[in-house]
Formats: sequence, C-alpha cells, structure tokens
Amino acid sequence: LLDASGTLAGTIFEEMTVLAGTHGAVNLGQGFPDEDGPVQILEAARAAISSGANQYAPGRGIPVLREAIAAHQARFYGLSVDPAEEVLVTTGATEAIAAALLALTGPGDEVLTFEPFYDSYGAMIELTGARHVTVPLHEPDFLPDEDELAGAVTDRTKVILVNNPHNPTGTVFGPELLQRIVEEAARHGAIIVTDEVYEHLTFDGVTHVPVATLPGAAERTLTISSAGKTFSVTGWKVGWLTGPADLVAAVRTVKQFLTYSSASPLQGAVALGLGLDDDVYAGLASSLQRKRDLLVSGLRGAGFEVTVPAGTYFVVADATPLLGGDVTDGAELCRRLPATAGVAAIPLTAFYHPGSAAAASASRLIRFAFCKRDDVLAEAVRRLTAFG
Ligand code: PMP
Ligand code: GLN
Repeated sequence: LLDASGTLAGTIFEEMTVLAGTHGAVNLGQGFPDEDGPVQILEAARAAISSGANQYAPGRGIPVLREAIAAHQARFYGLSVDPAEEVLVTTGATEAIAAALLALTGPGDEVLTFEPFYDSYGAMIELTGARHVTVPLHEPDFLPDEDELAGAVTDRTKVILVNNPHNPTGTVFGPELLQRIVEEAARHGAIIVTDEVYEHLTFDGVTHVPVATLPGAAERTLTISSAGKTFSVTGWKVGWLTGPADLVAAVRTVKQFLTYSSASPLQGAVALGLGLDDDVYAGLASSLQRKRDLLVSGLRGAGFEVTVPAGTYFVVADATPLLGGDVTDGAELCRRLPATAGVAAIPLTAFYHPGSAAAASASRLIRFAFCKRDDVLAEAVRRLTAFG
C-alpha cells in the first residue's frame, strides 16, 4: 500500500475527484452517477429513518433484504439461494470483496485476477498476505488468452477473482470463457469470487451470465453485487454476497469484525429496489447505452480511438492525440487534464501492477465514465475537442 517513493498511496479515484473539484473540471473520472436512482427507494430510505430503523441491523442483513436478494437471483438468473444461510449483506461490494479474501486466503496462497483489475483487489490481496497472480486482458477486445489462463492457475490458486462486466474495460465475458474459468477452478480446487456489480449495466442485447449459473460453478462460487450501480446510489454502500452456506459463513465470520453490520435504514429501501419491475432495470441500461453512444461519438469526433464497451459505465480511449512534450503517458495526462482541458479521467495504469510490462502497454489508455447527464457529457466533449 506504499507507492514507489514509500508514501502511503491514496486511491486514484479520490485523487482525480479532488483535482476535478479544484479546477472546476467535468468529472468523468470516478464512476458515480450525477442523478439519483429510483425515487421509490429514496423515499423508502427517508421513511425508514423517520420511523426509527436507526439501530444495528442483524449482522447478516435484515431478513427482508436477504429475501429480496434471493428473489432477485431467482427472477433474473434462475438461481436458488437460501436467504437464511446463503446470503450476506455487506457494506458495499468493497466489504464483500475484502471479507471474502480475508476469509479464504492468506500467506502461501495465490489469488488470480485478470489485469487490468479494480484497485481494491490489488490492495486487499496484499493485505491478506497472499500472492497476486494476474492474467492479462489483451487489446483490442480486452479478453484473456485461454492458454495463459490455464498456465496461471495452479494448486496454490486459492481464489480466482473475476469481475464481470469488467471495470475498467467494459468487457462482458461470455459463457464459454466463464466456463473455462470454472473448469480451471474445479481442476485445481480453487474458489471463484465473482464481482458482478455491473450485472444490470449491459448494452446492445448482451446479457449478463452470472458465473454461478454455469455447470459445476455454484458449489465453488461466491457472487458479489451492490445497490450502488443498479440503483445509482453509490454513496449508500449496501452490497451483498451469495453462495454456498459454508463459504458464506466463513465470510460472515470476518464481516462481523470488519463492520459487524451494514446501514440499517437503507436495507429495506434496497429490498424494495430489488423488487422493482423489469422496466426499471431495462430503463437504466438503455439510458446508459444512449450515454455511451453520446460519449463514444463525441470522443471519436475529438480524435480519440475508443473501445466500445458492452457493459459498465466506462469507456477506454487511446489518449495518444493528447500526448506530447513532457506529457508522455496517460497518468501524467490525467494529472494535468483537469487544469488544462477542464475534464477529469482515470489513467488505465491505475488498474495494473505498477511498473509491470502490462502497465507499460496500457500507458496510453485512459478511462472516462459516462454515467452523467447528457449536457455534462456534451460539455466534456466540447472541452476535449477544443483542447485537442
Ligand atoms: N467492484 C467494482 C468492479 C467496482 O467498479 C466498484 C465500484 N464502485 C466496486 C466493486 C465497489 O462497490 P461498492 O461501492 O458497492 O463498494
Ligand atoms: N468504482 C468506482 C470507479 O471505478 C470508484 C469507487 C471508488 O472511488 N473507490 O470509478
């Protein structure tokens, strides 16, 4: 958790959001929507606070939320999950990831992720003392080579940590690739921890396939998601984890000493959200697809090469047109862009092991978030066009 100069590292998301604020920049860096989610859930949270749901919730989550999570898994994916023993409510997906890794791994173990990887994975694996092994996602479509995957999984692999749909690339892994991951995990006795927080944010008719639905997967898979993305309430930090009772119990044991329990007045509201009609979910995806298209065409118009994401609310662009002089890579560009162009973005290298060959190959890439109002996206494009 120390950077190359030995100082405690801050997260890149916070750093860029602070820079955006300082310079009045349009913040397409940190991924958070600038419009709130369904009004029903906001009202339910207000009502819960007013009616006294303000003391500790049960450690595993209030029953109505655990039931709603189980019902959601059945409704969208045909998965059967016992709300009593196979569901755990957590303080965001972040706590679910942390508690799962702490419960399942330690020194001498290996944890495998794809690279680029979400920043908390690298930090948390380091905190467990396990070794972090990565399998590269290759441009242009940010998919892994299956031989490289097979070569990286060994009998020391304790956990394969999957993120699908994938932050930062927006790639959505298809069922064949996911099945290969399940086969490798089964062959080597590894547990799959799958971070599916963007499960409802897929585009162009691409559907999300949870790892746990694949043959041979359910008994070895912990599935993580969060209200933050699905209901555009990233600040609520209500997440959850589902899977086999023994694995969930192990994670629950750790969770009780991390936070004990999660925000009680928000849990009923999230339960209500999980029960909303299909058109609420479809509406979010179609609105984001339109925003994706707005930003992609704007960035292309401004001279960027862009990878069109099939999911998430992020788009990766090649920043080469903006590099030059002493701005030689995406990291330096992103540090300057809020002041020089009035726009904030995240360098892709923030999702790689610092100094690795893979990071070097991604050094020209930057990530923009498109979960913003149309006028905000248009203003960002206007500024980037004027700057470039
Ligand atoms: N996983 C991924 C891949 C994410 O992008 C995020 C982002 N916010 C999280 C986990 C964290 O989710 P939460 O805010 O629910 O902790
Ligand atoms: N998940 C968000 C992103 O990728 C950021 C969350 C955070 O700030 N830790 O932008």
